[in-house]
Amino acid sequence: MDDRRTIAYFSMEIGLESGMPNYSGGLGVLAGDTIRSAADLKVPMVAITLLHRKGFFHQSIDSSGWQREEPVEWAVEDFLEEMPQRASVTIEERVVHLRSWKYEVNGIGGFVVPVYFLDADLEENSEWDRALSHFLYGGDQHYRLCQEVILGIGGVRMLRALGYNIRRFHMNEGHAGLLTLALLDEEAKSAGRGSITSDDIEAVREKCIFTTHTPVPAGHDQFPLDLVRSVIGPREDFFDMTDSSTQNLIKRVLRNRENFFDMKDLLRSEGTLNMTYLALNLSRYINGVAKKHSEVSRLMFAGYSIDAITNGVHAATWVTKSLQGLYDRYIPGWREDNFSLRYAISIPRQEVWQAHIQAKKPLMRYVNSRTDAEMDTDTFTLGFARRATTYKRGDLLFQDTERLRRISLEVGSLQVIYAGKAHPQDQGGKALIKRIFEVKKSLKKEIKMVYLENYDMELAKMIISGVDVWLNTPKPPLEASGTSGMKAALNGVPSLSILDGWWIEGHIEGVTGWSIGEKIKEGEKSHDPSQDAASLYEKLEKTIIPTFYHKRDHFIDVMRYSITLNGSFFNTQRMMQQYVLKAYF
Ligand SMILES: *Cc1c(COP(=O)(O)O)cnc(C)c1O
Repeated sequence: MDDRRTIAYFSMEIGLESGMPNYSGGLGVLAGDTIRSAADLKVPMVAITLLHRKGFFHQSIDSSGWQREEPVEWAVEDFLEEMPQRASVTIEERVVHLRSWKYEVNGIGGFVVPVYFLDADLEENSEWDRALSHFLYGGDQHYRLCQEVILGIGGVRMLRALGYNIRRFHMNEGHAGLLTLALLDEEAKSAGRGSITSDDIEAVREKCIFTTHTPVPAGHDQFPLDLVRSVIGPREDFFDMTDSSTQNLIKRVLRNRENFFDMKDLLRSEGTLNMTYLALNLSRYINGVAKKHSEVSRLMFAGYSIDAITNGVHAATWVTKSLQGLYDRYIPGWREDNFSLRYAISIPRQEVWQAHIQAKKPLMRYVNSRTDAEMDTDTFTLGFARRATTYKRGDLLFQDTERLRRISLEVGSLQVIYAGKAHPQDQGGKALIKRIFEVKKSLKKEIKMVYLENYDMELAKMIISGVDVWLNTPKPPLEASGTSGMKAALNGVPSLSILDGWWIEGHIEGVTGWSIGEKIKEGEKSHDPSQDAASLYEKLEKTIIPTFYHKRDHFIDVMRYSITLNGSFFNTQRMMQQYVLKAYF
């Protein structure tokens, strides 16, 4: 085994191919892009995740607009190679046996980053344990905690069984936090001790890196300590450490709350194991995923040093065929060197437009084959596709449907393409889909609109590259980064977005796209949704639609600047270089 690999990247979900439904959304897709760029840059990394055999569900939407979910069984053997090594974890005093399956991500220069999928579905395990690696984010808290034991503790043990000598453990979100417990045990054991000391804690901190991904409280796992005790056993040394330090931190955080926004839920940590605090306490390097998100995280978790590394996307993966051809002709070597996309500014306008139309046509064909919308390539088309959840406010466009109708009739006609899955337990997200569905019906005569089913990486690539403007309407400051707008920018599709997440860094008004409203200031509450909606209509009515129909050259300039200024920067190649510089070595 190649023991020169020193960095292990842990993620509960990883999106590698559409055929492998092992991801739910942005976090998993980012993980896949991160690994692809690590392979391109020959970073000595291995990745660890769980094998979600039942996949993240297949979505359909019934005639009333309500989401239906079905498991997706996928042929694991078609994608992955079973490894002979075994490892195990103890859950509720039972030994749960684990195997792993390997997937190889090939970098552009032939360097491979292996991804290991942990699998508890073995005959030696009980029926219940076998199902532990079946459902991504499925089941209740108990099920989730058991999965996190497998990912964190099982992951470390499997890496050892595979022969790796890992020195850096990167936790992509708190789900992997329990890897710290396995590392603490290793330290104590190698010193011949049975319990953990502060030296062990320092040694483990030296090895760990933690990336936090969201300010939304539901994104931060916490488990009742009684549950944790029953699942991992009476590890009082470990609880003492996490619990007491958690209590101190709560006090500090409470003092620094600034009323920035309401974090009460997250702070109710007494008597719980909070995976975020666990990871924060045991990591040497911590980062948020955009500059703004790091600021917000420093307010949420006062007292920690939280740096920023802004997310990116894997350029060669997310640029569609026609644009790839264009870049190959004008910017040879752009895949190896994403910075060179800055030269897109000198690609002739007509060629950029042609490539865009080549991307728009297949999207229109797809839409028209699935629906009766009869969309066309000449009409200005807005796209909105991402996880359907309330804070993303997918219905902001419909605050004033009368005004939207008027814009489409009087200023220039408009088509809208929606897609996105709601988490099976997110009733608010499902209600949002239903509302969009209903508005779609009521506007049918004036505005062609569709909600495409079963959003996945393949559909994402088609929508993101084939619309004219990418719409993003989160409630600030809850969008930590967002990556779909970066994918759009790489395809020359500018954003019309709330100033939150990455867009605060990528936005130059009228140059790289357009903002909705102003940036919220320190201590200020989110804007009233109707204010944001008014700004959204204003931009469409006064600027974007007229520019699209009547000042095409100017519109294409915005497309070129999207590639030049944003595509060249908001990619995982730049991001991975920053992790190497700041976090890994
Ligand atoms: C990129 C991507 C996302 C993330 O989109 P955001 O706008 O960042 O929320 C989610 N799902 C899929 C399938 C994606 O490709």
